[in-house]
Amino acid sequence: LAALAMAAKDEHAVTLDGVQIEIAGNIAKVKEAEKLVAMGGEAVGLLRSEFLYQDQASAPSEDEQEQAYRQVLTTLGERPLVVRTLDVGGDKPLSYLPLPKEDNPFLGERGIRVGLDKPAVLRQQIRALLKAANAGRLRIMFPMVASLFELKLAKQVLREEAEKLAIDISSIEIGIMIEVPSAAVMADVLAEHVDFFSIGTNDLTQYTLAIDRGHPKLAAIADGLHPAVLRLIDMTTKAAHAKGKWVGVCGGLAGEKDAVPILVGLGIDELSVSVPSIPQVKYQVRQLSQQACKQVAAKAMACADAKDVRHLMRDENTLLA
Ligand code: PEP
Ligand code: MG
Repeated sequence: LAALAMAAKDEHAVTLDGVQIEIAGNIAKVKEAEKLVAMGGEAVGLLRSEFLYQDQASAPSEDEQEQAYRQVLTTLGERPLVVRTLDVGGDKPLSYLPLPKEDNPFLGERGIRVGLDKPAVLRQQIRALLKAANAGRLRIMFPMVASLFELKLAKQVLREEAEKLAIDISSIEIGIMIEVPSAAVMADVLAEHVDFFSIGTNDLTQYTLAIDRGHPKLAAIADGLHPAVLRLIDMTTKAAHAKGKWVGVCGGLAGEKDAVPILVGLGIDELSVSVPSIPQVKYQVRQLSQQACKQVAAKAMACADAKDVRHLMRDENTLLA
């Protein structure tokens, strides 16, 4: 199976009934872009920019950042690149950007909240992105957006920096992570202000089930296939599509065998997975029909809990395989 998947890695992932799903990869370092291209990745669905300079003691300069983005865009050629602006806080400390100690860091200064609180850092990153944009197909994404006002502030920063640099941003897609339940519930409102959503199932699961994603005892039951999470994904996708916007999934669920048929059934347009999983996920999508997957997704959303969904998928996967 792995050999078959590898042999077809450069072909698109089109379902039996003709629906093409973009299969992208998640990267954290410049070098991984080459690997992604070699594995048949059609885009970078998530560049976790907080990891680019993770090991450095001091902050990267604007030029350094620009060069990194430019290099990834050049490697990708025609393939789009989603860069997520710095997502620090919670489980992701950054040595050169110390944050105050908090009792509940996952519920505190994280993601875009840090960016808005330290606008100089966000502005610098955005300038670097804008200056690199002409090297390829850039998409900019903001993390951990919980409310429209945060998105509006972030977009304002983007517009202001673009104006100062006299860079036309009309060809740059702007999106947000959907990883907080409030954002999923309000997706219809948020969709009017973005070009795309990317669903972060790791955090969305954590915040929906109120289980710390790294909890030594509980993390194992924080299952993204919980019907509550699936219903939020469904809500998000329907709201986005109603406004003509596309939706990706870049959390761990996107690369899970049990989850792929459900996500395809929910109408997800792009799956962004770990680079080594790209050929396998493409292969799996080619065996599916979206019509059949829609029924599977409906059944999954009607389940009482994640365990029932896992059972369902054990049966369905044998049917679908
Ligand atoms: C997620 O939360 O699902 C996600 C993709 O972001 P990260 O894992 O980097 O928090
Ligand atoms: Mg996240």
